[in-house]
Amino acid sequence: MGWNDIIGQERIKRIIQRAIIQNRVAHAYCFSGIEGIGKDGLAIEFAKTVNCENPIINDDSIDACRKCPSCRSFETLTHQNIQLIFSLPAEKSGADSKKETVMTRLSEEDANLVQEEIKQKSKDYYHRIEIPNATQIRIASIREVKRSLTLSAPTAGRRFVIIIRAEEMTKESANAFLKTLEEPHTGITIILTTSKKEFILPTILSRCQLIECEPLSEDLIANSLIEKKNISPEDARLIAQFAQGSYSKALDFLNEDMKSNRELIVEALRRSLRTINYRLDLLEIVEKIVKMNDKNKYETLLVLLLLWLRDTYSMQKSKSNDYVINQDNLEVLTRFVNKFQDKEMNLAIDLIEKAILQIRRNVQPQLIFINLFVKMRELFL
Ligand SMILES: [Zn+2]
Repeated sequence: MGWNDIIGQERIKRIIQRAIIQNRVAHAYCFSGIEGIGKDGLAIEFAKTVNCENPIINDDSIDACRKCPSCRSFETLTHQNIQLIFSLPAEKSGADSKKETVMTRLSEEDANLVQEEIKQKSKDYYHRIEIPNATQIRIASIREVKRSLTLSAPTAGRRFVIIIRAEEMTKESANAFLKTLEEPHTGITIILTTSKKEFILPTILSRCQLIECEPLSEDLIANSLIEKKNISPEDARLIAQFAQGSYSKALDFLNEDMKSNRELIVEALRRSLRTINYRLDLLEIVEKIVKMNDKNKYETLLVLLLLWLRDTYSMQKSKSNDYVINQDNLEVLTRFVNKFQDKEMNLAIDLIEKAILQIRRNVQPQLIFINLFVKMRELFL
C-alpha cells in the first residue's frame, strides 16, 4: 500500500508530507471527516513514511520506499512502531488484568478475529475494523498504551499510536487518555481518527492538531471504481452518486444490487399510498424487508428511499431535473411529483431520517418500517 491507495485527499497528503520533510511532526493529531474517506489509511501511511529508512523525496512530496525492512513490516501492520487501538469485546472470564495483556485477556476466538481484522486493514485501508460485540474502546487498551509509552523505544524511528473511531472511547478511557496526552513523550505521535468529533472531549481535541478530511467527489469515487474495481462507467456513476462522498459506502453498494433494493423500498412506498387494500400488501413487503435481518441493509434501504424522496423534493422546488440522483428513474419520479405536487416532501424526508436513527438505536425494525409508511400515508393522502 502507498499514498496512491488513498483516493483523493491531496491537500491532507501535502500537509502530512510537508510536516515529515520539515521535521515538524506533531505529538497528536485528530483526523476527522465522514466514514470511508481514508482517514485511517492516511494515518498508517504517515507512520510508514516517517519510519522508512530510504524515503523517496521529490520537492515537497515524500514517499516510503516500500522495500526496506521497516516498510515491509508496516505493510503487514506488524511494525513495533505502530499500534492500532480500537473497540474490543469483553475480556474472557478469569483474565488476570495485572499479568496479562489486552490481547491475551480476550478469548482465543476474539483474539483471532482481531488479528484477522488488522490483516484486512493492512491490505485495504478502507476496510472497517469491526469485531462483534465490540463498541467501546476500553480503559484496558488506553492503560496499555500509557504503559508502553513510558517504556523506552523498542526500535529506532518514531512510534505511532492510531486510535480508530476515537469517539468510541468510554468516559473512563477518554479521561485516562487525556492524562496521557498531557504528558510529553518524545518520539511518539498519537493520531485519533473519527467521524464524530463532537463526541470527543474538547480537552482532548484542544491538544491535537486538527486535520479535517473532505468527503470525496463523485468523480473521484466513480473513477476509482472504474479503475480499481472494473465497474462499467454507467454503474460506477450511479454508485458514486449514492455513496455521498464515502468510498467505503460505495464499496458496500458494490456488493449489493442497488437497483433491486431501490425497487423494493419504492414499492413499499407505492403500496403504502394505495387507496384500497394497502394494509396487507404493505405488511407483506415490510416482512420481506425485516427478514433480511441485517441492520446495515435496513439502513441502505432507508438511505435509498431518502435519496429518492430528496429527488422529488428538488424537482418540486427547482422545477428542473438537474440535481436528481436517480437519473435512470426520471419517469417514475416525474409521475410521483405530479401526483403529489402540493405535498410537503421535506416532511417525508424528516420521517426517513428519524427512522434511520431508530435503526441505529436498535428499535424493532418491523415497528420502524410500519410506522414510517403509515406516517407517509398520512402525509401524502
Ligand atoms: Zn522504506
